Amino acid sequence: MTPAPALLTDLRVRAAYSEGAGIYRIVPEGVAVPRSVEDVRRLAGWAADTRTSLVPRGAGSGIPGGNVGRGVIVDLSQGFHELSVDARRRVARAGASVTAAEIGAAALPYGLRLPPDPSSAAFATSGGLVATNAAGPRSVRYGSVRRWVEAIEIVDASGEVRWVRRGGGRGERFALDDAERRLVEARFPKTRKNSSGYALDAFAASGDELDLLIGSEGTLGMVTAVEWRLDPIPPDRAGVALGFADLAALDDALPFLLALNPSALELLDHTLLSLVAAGSAEGMGAALPDLACLLLVEFERETAAAARGVVGDAVRGLHHHTRHVETAVDRDGLAHLWAVRRLASPALARLPETRRSLQVVEDGCVPLERTADYVAGLRETSRGRGIELAMFGHAGDGHVHVNALPDTTRHGWREDLAAVLEDVTALLLQLGGTPSGEHGDGRLRAGVLGRFVGAEVAALFQDVKRAYDPRSVFNPGVIIPAAAWAPLADLKVGEAAAPIPDDIAARLRAVERGAEWTIPKTGLAD
Ligand SMILES: Cc1cc2nc3c(=O)[nH]c(=O)nc-3n(C[C@H](O)[C@H](O)[C@H](O)COP(=O)(O)OP(=O)(O)OC[C@H]3O[C@@H](n4cnc5c(N)ncnc54)[C@H](O)[C@@H]3O)c2cc1C
Repeated sequence: MTPAPALLTDLRVRAAYSEGAGIYRIVPEGVAVPRSVEDVRRLAGWAADTRTSLVPRGAGSGIPGGNVGRGVIVDLSQGFHELSVDARRRVARAGASVTAAEIGAAALPYGLRLPPDPSSAAFATSGGLVATNAAGPRSVRYGSVRRWVEAIEIVDASGEVRWVRRGGGRGERFALDDAERRLVEARFPKTRKNSSGYALDAFAASGDELDLLIGSEGTLGMVTAVEWRLDPIPPDRAGVALGFADLAALDDALPFLLALNPSALELLDHTLLSLVAAGSAEGMGAALPDLACLLLVEFERETAAAARGVVGDAVRGLHHHTRHVETAVDRDGLAHLWAVRRLASPALARLPETRRSLQVVEDGCVPLERTADYVAGLRETSRGRGIELAMFGHAGDGHVHVNALPDTTRHGWREDLAAVLEDVTALLLQLGGTPSGEHGDGRLRAGVLGRFVGAEVAALFQDVKRAYDPRSVFNPGVIIPAAAWAPLADLKVGEAAAPIPDDIAARLRAVERGAEWTIPKTGLAD
């Protein structure tokens, strides 16, 4: 029997870990803050012996509820700080708590970077990035983090500590036969990005166990360190903002712009542009005409002339559609151009209870050619259900972040929100999409996976879970749904929210509004 670890069980501490980004509040039974791989190994052994659920956690910025739960939260953000760059091999070795921004800063002096650039780079940890197969605006050219993970150190359910490497083979725990491989090929969505379910498609293609573990959301083991592959920073960048009066223009604009090989191709819809304009101290976005949407495009090239040239191609090629054009060819211009995108999340986070931003359908991704249909379908849902939907995100990947803005002081808002969730799930199914392009399933989407991939692939997901975590110790209810799956139970908003001390609730709200996810959560309880 493994000795019991030191757990924090004071209500104030547990309350401080009851929320992450996203919609949930669930008070855990305890919190563990391991500082070493040996601490993590002992925790895993103790949890297996006592059948205690463990919820691995980094910064807590993950959105669909994989970072909260009723068991013991394992806060991996307070140890695991090691970071070194091997410029010759173009590799960074980072402890689980090291953020994407910290890796970027360490790689910069060598002219290197980690190409996926999540908007949450300042706080998203290496463990969280790998566990969710995170992505960002530049994923349109450089893919999700999967492509950039060379190896991970993992502590599994048996308490074994090992490095799992790219090219290291399929491991001993799980395999697909030929028929299952064909099934996966037939049933997985044909989208440019997918962070939903276990990545059996990537696993089948590479034959690498690493691909099963990336995106497994803390359900198969705990990541204690990551070896990241780095890439040289391209010499030159330029960009353009293109405004459209009609969403239907996306049908032409997206494939045209993609053919020019952009490094980012982002969308902001009218609702979001209005929110940014209303909330920004600098009046950002107020100068934009009345647009249906804005596309922000970045091009990385070997020379300044090439970068400027392709911006010109984009502007000329779409001039029949555009109502607004702003180009940027230097650092200041680019910063100004992208400010409106950077202000999107803060603008949503600070909305009042009468227009509370709730992420229940925030991560859908469709085949690129269905993007305009998806946005039009979302608009229809919004009108039909009387809930405003603000949209932004990675149009070049057919991937749109959608924040529902219900008036949570109005009677019946939960029912309307549930209807939005069902409508959008049905829309994604109809368009051949996936419910998650980069955030993962968490608790929110676990119960719909079977509808997307079919019962047989869902059964393979169960097989993966059993093979790695036979006692279901790691993050039960995430990816594999709980028997009583209820996506809109345990909300942090409304009268039914779990009671926690008022001052902690206020601090958690401040963290969310200010995106202060790097603050150690134990400190919130002081
Ligand atoms: C303002 C804002 C902007 C965002 N922008 C982006 C974006 O551009 N792109 C994007 O992909 N996401 C984005 N996100 C979502 C979030 O930042 C990412 O999902 C991020 O990867 C989560 O990292 P984290 O350290 O906060 O993980 P957490 O939220 O703590 O955990 C997320 C999941 O990973 C698991 N996990 C965490 N650490 C480990 C570990 N060491 N071992 C095993 N499992 C672990 C957890 O169990 C959970 O399931 C954004 C979120 C916010 C609030």
